[in-house]
Amino acid sequence: MVSLGAIHGGVGTDAARRWLFAGQLGPHFLDAPDQPVLLVESRAAFARRPLHRRRAHLILSALRHRAAELGDQARLVRAENYEHGRTRAGGDLTVCAPTSWAARWLVKRLPGVSVVAARGFGTGEEEFAAWAAGRGKRRLLLEDFYQDARRRLDVLMDGAEPAGGRWNFDADNREPPRRGGLGLPEPPRFAEDEIDAEVRRDLDAWARSGEVRLTGADGPREFPVTRAEALRALRAFTADRLPVFGPQQDAMLAGDRIMAHSLLSPALNLGLLDPLECVHAAEDAYRSGDAPLGSVEGFVRQLIGWRDYVWNLYWHFGEDYRHRNTLRAHEPLPPWFADLDAAAVTARCLSDALAQVREHGFAHHIIRLMVLGSWALQRGWDPEQVTDWFRTNFVDGYDWVMVPNVVGMSQHADGGTMATKPYTSGGAYIHRMSDYCGDCTYRPTVRLGPQACPFTAGYWAFLDRHADRFATNPRMARQVNGLNRLTDLPKVTAQEKDRGAGPP
Ligand SMILES: Cc1cc2nc3c(=O)[nH]c(=O)nc-3n(C[C@H](O)[C@H](O)[C@H](O)COP(=O)(O)OP(=O)(O)OC[C@H]3O[C@@H](n4cnc5c(N)ncnc54)[C@H](O)[C@@H]3O)c2cc1C
Ligand code: SF4
Repeated sequence: MVSLGAIHGGVGTDAARRWLFAGQLGPHFLDAPDQPVLLVESRAAFARRPLHRRRAHLILSALRHRAAELGDQARLVRAENYEHGRTRAGGDLTVCAPTSWAARWLVKRLPGVSVVAARGFGTGEEEFAAWAAGRGKRRLLLEDFYQDARRRLDVLMDGAEPAGGRWNFDADNREPPRRGGLGLPEPPRFAEDEIDAEVRRDLDAWARSGEVRLTGADGPREFPVTRAEALRALRAFTADRLPVFGPQQDAMLAGDRIMAHSLLSPALNLGLLDPLECVHAAEDAYRSGDAPLGSVEGFVRQLIGWRDYVWNLYWHFGEDYRHRNTLRAHEPLPPWFADLDAAAVTARCLSDALAQVREHGFAHHIIRLMVLGSWALQRGWDPEQVTDWFRTNFVDGYDWVMVPNVVGMSQHADGGTMATKPYTSGGAYIHRMSDYCGDCTYRPTVRLGPQACPFTAGYWAFLDRHADRFATNPRMARQVNGLNRLTDLPKVTAQEKDRGAGPP
């Protein structure tokens, strides 16, 4: 791994202007409330690859709102690329270490830019490195990392013990969906203003001129672009959804794409919220009796557990991790998937998932992992292309979070470094955790013939393809053994081969 060199933990000088990237828009990225600010709107960053319309809108709108909010304190430079933006800004700059390898190389090589430690995460890179070094040869387990973070950050602790005497409420948090839904209020809506209108006009013009390639559907903005909106979203989540966040975390309902999820990832990844303030708000709700411990612990685990773990693994695994492809999956993404063509898909779960992505640029975790990602894994699609697809199409998609989540967690392309077993399943899991299968053309228990559930048949075909590798994995050996019971296995694998890259 090539080293980026030391990133200094100190603060910038009073005089130095702070360059804020689009993931650094909250007040905690400044050393003082009146520090001068540079914001660069790089056209190249939007033109490099296709972008979901809602993602492009959210980022541009957030940058321009921050510039408007800061007034004379900020300089917004619209430039061909970041280099030009930096040159035009002139003077000395400081920047909090940005969130991708590419951006870190960029700021390192630009003259007059000094880089201070990254912000916006509970566990910084130096703390993670110390923790990882202390593990010796032991795996970097999420559970151990999370417990260490709880102690270090003093979150949900009663003295030296975890609140309620347990670290983990996962077992209580895997309920199937409640029939009739959760009956929760709508999440807050955010009124669009003249800045949003200008962003929309610009995106239309750039798309018409062919400068940017936009995917997905436009629609009213659904996520916060200012600190005030982000705080409103956090308050609404804490009051309305946090109390029931835990039990149905893994459930999916066709008529409820949000369930009790927080929808906070776009605001967190823009830097409008700090994860620790979200964690403290959740803990306060528990301590004041407004939310049960199981739900609060579940949410805290997502933030100072999963989010920080993923952030740190992105750096720890190195720049080449994105190219890992241990399962030698080389199939290209078919056009219907790349184009978010939900109508072409008969399988109800997958069609609904694609429609959510097309309409909203968003889907919750289990839909990402156990429907979209699982399909790509079963079909042997190239993990790098799958990563690009997710990064293009999700409003909260950034390199640091997509690469480990897709390469490691969802596509098992690292051979098990991050997740000890591949996350994929047959239709039985989707049937148990959702209401999709009832009205589907396919049957989740059938693996052969016109009614065969493509996830069920695809699961067996995937296992068969990789049987040698997974037979030696203690968490997969039982499933691999299950292949021996399938007298129709050759027909199932032939059927899935025939299905090819077409929409299921
Ligand atoms: C294939 C795949 C791709 C993903 N891509 C992204 C992405 O581009 N951006 C992104 O922020 N998350 C990503 N995730 C993680 C997770 O799915 C989203 O953070 C979550 O669905 C966002 O919705 P929410 O805010 O309602 O989450 P909630 O369910 O309310 O969870 C609370 C918060 O926990 C954090 N979190 C939970 N799990 C993870 C995780 N695995 N990695 C990082 N943060 C996590 C998020 O900040 C989230 O806002 C991905 C997961 C998978 C399996
Ligand atoms: S039957 Fe299979 S394809 Fe249809 S919704 Fe259920 S899991 Fe999805």
